[in-house]
Amino acid sequence: MHPSGLIEQQLRARGHRLTPQRRAILEFLASASHPSAEEIHRAINRRFPMTSRATTYNTLNWLCRQGLLREIYQGGVRRYETNLDPHHHLVCKRCGKLEDLYARGSTTVAVGKLPGWTVLAVDVTVQGICPDCQASGARKRSDKRPARRAARRSDIISQEVRK
Ligand SMILES: [Zn+2]
Ligand SMILES: [Zn+2]
Repeated sequence: MHPSGLIEQQLRARGHRLTPQRRAILEFLASASHPSAEEIHRAINRRFPMTSRATTYNTLNWLCRQGLLREIYQGGVRRYETNLDPHHHLVCKRCGKLEDLYARGSTTVAVGKLPGWTVLAVDVTVQGICPDCQASGARKRSDKRPARRAARRSDIISQEVRK
């Protein structure tokens, strides 16, 4: 979705360069859905085995500062995307899948006054169980069903839900 030629032009106009690592990160993000910093690092390392974790993380921060990436901080994990259109996210509590959510109407949340805080961004994350996980849960329950095993399995499921 990002024509990297355009990004390159924008950067050059500001006196910056798209280094091979910066370009590799943008290319990886174009094909991945909200990968974590660690996933990005692993992907970059496959192409540039000498890239340190610090370099990847610094490059991610730099790309954010240049306005080329959006960072989503969710469940203690930093994730990134090149989709800069205002949108929210939908996250599956079971498999961790994260999807874009385009809310109709208001895309802001009234947070009121937050004394002492400088607000940088407001992100809304809707949490739930995705259709795939619900379908696989239903499949497991309707498998072969020796009564004791079924009970144990549903215990496990309800523990997962409580987490
Ligand atoms: Zn799921
Ligand atoms: Zn997104």
